[in-house]
Amino acid sequence: MTARRPPARPLVCALVACGSTDRVRLYVIGARCAAHTPSAQAGLPEPDELLTRHRQTLARLTSTDTDTDTERTAA
Ligand SMILES: [Zn+2]
Repeated sequence: MTARRPPARPLVCALVACGSTDRVRLYVIGARCAAHTPSAQAGLPEPDELLTRHRQTLARLTSTDTDTDTERTAA
């Protein structure tokens, strides 16, 4: 038994006026290019960008040469 695959077609941004095939990914609302992701349309950073920032913050906070003990501890 061989698995049948549909022919590979590039995803197209489903936004009516766009039709781009550049970095298109599937979202719940449909296929969107990088310029029309839900986050981009809401003016928010992309989730992977947030993850990168989070990792940078963690790396900064957990680095051994911390001279930033100015944060208050909750009493
Ligand atoms: Zn688009």
